[in-house]
Amino acid sequence: MDFSLTEEQLMIQDMAKKFADTELAPIAASLDEGKNHDKFLVNLNQLAELGFMGMNVKGEYGGVEAGTVAFSLVITELAKACASTAVTTSVTNMVAEVIQAVGTEEQKETHLTKICTGEYKAGGFCLTEPSAGSDPAGMKTTAVKDGDEYVLNGSKIYITSGTFAGVFVVWAVTDPSAPKGKGISCFLVEANTPGLNIGKLEDKMGQKASHTTEVHFEDCRIPASNLMGQENKGFAIAVGELAGGRIGVGSLALGIGMAAMDYAREFITERKQFGQPLANFQGLQWMLADRYTELEAARLLLMQAACDKDAGKNFSKGASMAKLFASEKANQACYDALQMLGGAGYIKEYPVERMARDVRITSIYEGTSEVQRIIISRELLREIA
Ligand SMILES: Cc1cc2nc3c(=O)[nH]c(=O)nc-3n(C[C@H](O)[C@H](O)[C@H](O)COP(=O)(O)OP(=O)(O)OC[C@H]3O[C@@H](n4cnc5c(N)ncnc54)[C@H](O)[C@@H]3O)c2cc1C
Repeated sequence: MDFSLTEEQLMIQDMAKKFADTELAPIAASLDEGKNHDKFLVNLNQLAELGFMGMNVKGEYGGVEAGTVAFSLVITELAKACASTAVTTSVTNMVAEVIQAVGTEEQKETHLTKICTGEYKAGGFCLTEPSAGSDPAGMKTTAVKDGDEYVLNGSKIYITSGTFAGVFVVWAVTDPSAPKGKGISCFLVEANTPGLNIGKLEDKMGQKASHTTEVHFEDCRIPASNLMGQENKGFAIAVGELAGGRIGVGSLALGIGMAAMDYAREFITERKQFGQPLANFQGLQWMLADRYTELEAARLLLMQAACDKDAGKNFSKGASMAKLFASEKANQACYDALQMLGGAGYIKEYPVERMARDVRITSIYEGTSEVQRIIISRELLREIA
């Protein structure tokens, strides 16, 4: 099997790398300190101009139709410089893909165009609730039909880009009497809709420029035409789109892990102890060998899942395997990179400290590692049933 990139994919990867080097890397540390948020938002607009907010969106709606492999490459390049920007881009693409997959023609024309042009700085994906995380089918937010409107009530938590997203895709229970997961529908809610209130901005361990917030719905009335897909069939949409999102998070983790290891590799060639470069010590050489091998394996799993998605094949198990492996190996890579820097690894002046915090969430959001193992093993057992 040949995973060589096409000329177009190489060009897109190069564009993302240049943008990351010039616009993201210089401010990543200040974003981590809560500064430069305006520049962060300007960068999101520029990413839209580059076509990176609608990578799988059709041209007629303003997208670039570059495919999932290109999407993975872009997210990895962005994450090497700034994980916050990468996750915002990844989730916005996922929101765009939900709208493209199940939205009406009018919804696509209105909202996809705004995502792709940057008129919406980002899209928000509202699934998680206080009592429904790994088990989102247990959600409590309701949407009750009232004439030609739905009235939403309930709270979502940990929503990426809550403070600046222009539109949210929101899941809510429309048939409380249906079996679990069967009575849930998916809606489009614009950020300025009365009754949609952004709550607490979470103070996080890492990825700090990506604003993670509560989103409350208090008698939030939306036109019935904001329903996406069929009523009561919305949960399958979430499950399907999360699989694509996992390629994004795996790619993001890979980028952080690569950046940490690349930094550590340079560092050990320069710093000397016992009269020689640290790179001469086999203990550190083996860390390099093991971590780069694992990251390369993660990259291949991601490419396989992305190729399968682009080919219209079932990619759910592959995406979960790629996300599980990439996020856990990237965490290990950041841990070892920090170890290779010694005390300097723990000091904020060096970027590995930030990377080690930024990478931690990748094995938690878009389904924890445990949830990925559930999905993978369920699929494996189904294959022989
Ligand atoms: C920074 C950040 C950004 C996020 N962005 C978004 C977003 O944009 N949109 C959105 O909808 N959500 C978002 N989330 C939510 C995220 O997807 C959830 O936090 C995640 O799915 C885990 O849910 P939980 O936090 O409720 O943990 P829980 O489900 O309570 O899990 C706690 C622990 O129990 C384990 N566990 C749970 N069930 C099982 C089981 N059956 N078997 C074994 N172990 C199990 C979990 O793996 C985990 O280790 C975000 C979260 C964070 C922190």
